[in-house]
Amino acid sequence: MLNNCTADHTNPVGAVCLENAIVPEGHTGPLDERCRPDRCANSMIGPEHLPIYDSHQRKQLQLINNPSTPACRRDLAERELDITRNVLKMSGDPQ
Ligand code: SF4
Repeated sequence: MLNNCTADHTNPVGAVCLENAIVPEGHTGPLDERCRPDRCANSMIGPEHLPIYDSHQRKQLQLINNPSTPACRRDLAERELDITRNVLKMSGDPQ
């Protein structure tokens, strides 16, 4: 995910990535692959991230609006678009 994770890896209180997760034995800290930069209080979005989120948003819209995109890929693009829009909204980006 595109953000800075500020969670304390020895005590990741409030880590959304750990909600309802099966944590692999021996693992400590957040689960990066389950990161939700738009929902987690430990997520810090910097101005350097915004152009990439903007680009990602446009790419998801292309996929969604392309009639040849398979339904399952479109569903994924819609979820990605929601996350991306939430991040941009939180940042105050006027879009
Ligand atoms: S959801 Fe992301 S920002 Fe939050 S603790 Fe997990 S990895 Fe860090």
